[in-house]
Amino acid sequence: MSEVHAPEKSSSSRLLTGLRRGLRRKCPNCGHGFAFSGYLTLRSQCEVCEHPIGEYRCDDAPPYFTILLVGHIVVGGALSMEQSMNPSMALQLSVWLPTTVILCLGFLPFIKGAVLGTQWAMKIKG
Ligand SMILES: [Zn+2]
Repeated sequence: MSEVHAPEKSSSSRLLTGLRRGLRRKCPNCGHGFAFSGYLTLRSQCEVCEHPIGEYRCDDAPPYFTILLVGHIVVGGALSMEQSMNPSMALQLSVWLPTTVILCLGFLPFIKGAVLGTQWAMKIKG
């Protein structure tokens, strides 16, 4: 059996632990087993500590936080590019549309892991 988070730690420490483990897409309870069986699919339970990961329901929170993060990056970049280079609309779209898709698909699984870790820390199950 691997290290399991000590329950006597403070709630902020537990939250940081859950976030750190979740961002690595690991089981928030032990930090060793993989929490995901696919791109976004959660395992029903941890392969190391048998924690029931599948009972956590992240729902719309990961896409919401992903859009929030990527929106700030893309809008800031597009406005900066507009002011410094005054490019055509076609150039703006050809840069920022693929950037938006790539960043969303890149961030989403890690943000879902962070949401999972937060749910674990706050003992919120669906
Ligand atoms: Zn585990």
